[in-house]
Amino acid sequence: MTEFRSIEAATGQPHGPSFAVHGPDDVAAACAAASAAFDVYRTTDRETRAAFLERIADEIVAIGDELIEAAMRESGLPRPRLEGERGRTAGQLRLFAGVVRKGAWQQLRIDPALPERQPLPRPDIRLRMIPLGPVAVFGASNFPLAFSTAGGDTASALAAGCPVVVKGHPAHPQTGALVADAIARAVAASGLPQGVFGHLVGPSNELGAALVQDPRIAAVGFTGSRAGGLALSRLAQAREVPIPVYAEMSSINPVVLLPEALASRGAALGTAFVGSLTMGAGQFCTNPGLVLAIEGAGLDEFIANAVAALEAAAPQTMLTTGICKAYAEGVTALEGNGKIETLAKGLPAAGTQGAAALFRTTAGAFLADKAMGHEVFGAASLVVVCKDEEEVLSVLKGLEGQLTATLHLDAADEALAGRLLPTLETKAGRILANGWPTGVEVCHAMVHGGPFPATSDARTTSVGSLAIDRFLRPVSYQNLATGLLPAELRDDALGDGAPRLVDGVLTV
Ligand code: NAP
Repeated sequence: MTEFRSIEAATGQPHGPSFAVHGPDDVAAACAAASAAFDVYRTTDRETRAAFLERIADEIVAIGDELIEAAMRESGLPRPRLEGERGRTAGQLRLFAGVVRKGAWQQLRIDPALPERQPLPRPDIRLRMIPLGPVAVFGASNFPLAFSTAGGDTASALAAGCPVVVKGHPAHPQTGALVADAIARAVAASGLPQGVFGHLVGPSNELGAALVQDPRIAAVGFTGSRAGGLALSRLAQAREVPIPVYAEMSSINPVVLLPEALASRGAALGTAFVGSLTMGAGQFCTNPGLVLAIEGAGLDEFIANAVAALEAAAPQTMLTTGICKAYAEGVTALEGNGKIETLAKGLPAAGTQGAAALFRTTAGAFLADKAMGHEVFGAASLVVVCKDEEEVLSVLKGLEGQLTATLHLDAADEALAGRLLPTLETKAGRILANGWPTGVEVCHAMVHGGPFPATSDARTTSVGSLAIDRFLRPVSYQNLATGLLPAELRDDALGDGAPRLVDGVLTV
């Protein structure tokens, strides 16, 4: 195949112009350009790099409605959602600009020499973080703006000083091309080498595989399926020089309804739960795909209200025909499982739409069947009915790693919540109280990560300012003369606004 076309999500039909499929030569050229740009880009001063990130945000916003319309057509997502996502995309680029300016990401540490120390003198040792090198970014289908071409992976890698080569998601080539052009304009306007940003498109595994295998690529950021993330991780590990793959993959985001909360507001929780479950056709990595509760009248009320809300839920266009098919197969598998009861289905779906679905099982059945804990990407959720607190704890302990875990609790539930928390910490990257996991704030304290299979590296986050750490590594400089030290580690750099740990004491 030499060309491919954008597919309109609502019809599943080709739409708009053709895009040339990139091949091995294009991969090699993009990686060579990124590698050549690395030394220039990584030594840009903090202000230049921050202004560049802000310029990207401005260029994306300046595209105007053309961007929103392309994203609506290609993803099937509604206008308000995509306008919000554009704001989030620009916002996270500006957040990283602020992070770059403040300089804490450099993690500067200075341990001055102690020539008189006994029995041995201490040498002068200074540390800073440096960027890893060119980063390959795989855009996600479900956030065509905020997790794609100029999404969080790209923003955090550029903030770290790494050139980026994006493997555009084949579900939104037009949206991707508009954003890639905006980034290229920002690169030129900032006087940076063109190789700071590259963009490759094509609907085949070979393209992404070639990118990850290129020896000039130093790290990978990915959001998508478990199979895709694992395939790329394996390729990265099999290289002559293995590299880290930061893959955000699958999560069912358990929601635990504690007894007093259920007793006092089970009905309201049922309605609110369906609102979170069906948002964006359920195509969120933080979608609440599992509900845990102890049997009783409160849970019955929760279920009755959830069923009523879900039965009235309109079907929604899904992102791609492939995702729609995978969702339908996942729902059929749950329906066909003799240990699972179908509680409710949304209004019937047609074409590329998905209808919401709610299921119920027992803790015993769930614990006996690992497949019940696998992600069904879309608006499907499973209520696991537990006999007592012990069963709730057993189900939580048996879960795979998760992006989020949610507790709904009243004051009288706090003792039980305190019992569950140590387990939740070992399972999830973010623990919420009395909210819903969908909706991920982009801020400094956010973790959008978690143990496998939520991500391939539980030590990291792909959302929030801490995401920059994935693309940095520490270097120590021992006994280097001042003239050879990086500027930010010299004594006369104190006062440049970046915090430093001097002899273990934080100095700003
Ligand atoms: P995907 O199939 O994992 O694709 C994501 C990106 O990785 C695409 O650019 C894809 O491009 C590439 N890719 C996938 N497998 C690859 C391989 N073996 N080698 C090289 N490149 C590979 O995800 P998707 O198309 O967005 O959605 C499919 C499923 O992923 C969904 O049904 C859902 O289960 C899951 N998903 C999860 C999340 C989440 O947030 N956790 C988000 C979106 C989707 P090519 O196909 O062109 O190679």
